Amino acid sequence: MQHPILVLNAGSSSLKFSIYEKRAHHTLAAGAHGEAERLDTAQPHLTVRGPQGQPLADRAIAGSGHHGAIEAIHAWFAAHVGNERGFAAVGHRVVHGGQRFVAPVRIDADVLVAIAALTPLAPLHQPHHVEAIRAVSAVAPDVVQVACFDTAFHRTIPMIEREFALPRALTAQGIVRYGFHGLSYEYISTVLAALDARWQERRTVIAHLGNGASLCALAGGQSVATTMGLSAVDGLMMGTRSGALDPGALLYLLRQGGYSPDTAEHLLYNESGLLGVSGISSDMRTLEQSADPQAAHAIDLFTYRAARELAALAGVLGGLDTLVFTAGIGENAPSVRAQICRRAAWLGIALDETANAANAAIVSSQPSAVTVRVIPTDENLMIARHTLSLLEN
Ligand code: ADP
Repeated sequence: MQHPILVLNAGSSSLKFSIYEKRAHHTLAAGAHGEAERLDTAQPHLTVRGPQGQPLADRAIAGSGHHGAIEAIHAWFAAHVGNERGFAAVGHRVVHGGQRFVAPVRIDADVLVAIAALTPLAPLHQPHHVEAIRAVSAVAPDVVQVACFDTAFHRTIPMIEREFALPRALTAQGIVRYGFHGLSYEYISTVLAALDARWQERRTVIAHLGNGASLCALAGGQSVATTMGLSAVDGLMMGTRSGALDPGALLYLLRQGGYSPDTAEHLLYNESGLLGVSGISSDMRTLEQSADPQAAHAIDLFTYRAARELAALAGVLGGLDTLVFTAGIGENAPSVRAQICRRAAWLGIALDETANAANAAIVSSQPSAVTVRVIPTDENLMIARHTLSLLEN
């Protein structure tokens, strides 16, 4: 394999990865992908699949934590590909870039310290990215590592959208809207550019609806507004996250509700959203298959709030020409798309029910004023592209 690039997405107990191979003309071919799971237990496990999903490895990991996972991925790769030199570069998904990182960056000691210093802004994600970067340095000290930030695509958001109505000193400290899912939005914008030469002239909203969910408004091809804020808990209702909440409700929970900052954090990130409202599951597919009225009610609230935020972003853009659905729910759940579009019909959205049921590339009808697209996202490919470009420059 020539110039293999490893893309890592490190979470608290898992490490998802994809391997790409450089081909001619700076293109990348997807190789294997997989997951090291249960890293916080005594039985960590590695599974690897080929580009068509065929199983390539399914085994226990000998070491522990992220370090053990990185060792296992390297060992599998060396044995599978017979490539003793290992990876040409490793690209990491890093959730928070703060005010400093507005583009992908090669990681050195100074950059690593700065990424670690952003932990208070993303306490549930950032420490695991740092751990994965350190583990790669320990296992393969010479490999080029690149950090790609979920916040970076939103660097173009104007100050009026970024600022909360707080005293100026707090805004100056960086208590502002950053936005997330930027690697997904960036990837979708590359697809839009290939599909429609005039896409930058269109007022576009991309709906990234997965376990995490957010909307991004684009004008002139750039992010101008988004539903997530300082943290990834703001905006839309999600699988287990509450989305936008009256800050007074949080104060009430802390003062009168018996919650501590830690238990309130767990409530808002892990016990709310589809899971909390339904009392059944955080998984949209499970809820769609359930006959329980609470499951239908949770989906109703999800689509209501998505349509409400969509209208707010159309307000920012002064109208809407293109709506893109992406991520697990956006790509695969026709009835969720239909509910959101029905609620937003006044914006000029009309669905083609047959195309929508088939998850077609365009699901709006001919007379619809808004073109509604379904585009599968690929954040890992975006990271691999950035990593290759920093490796070559
Ligand atoms: P993550 O944010 O973890 O990357 P995904 O983008 O994979 O998540 O999205 C996961 C969500 O997509 C889950 O709620 C899952 O139920 C939903 N989903 C996936 N496939 C379908 C489907 N065919 N119908 C409805 N929901 C689906």
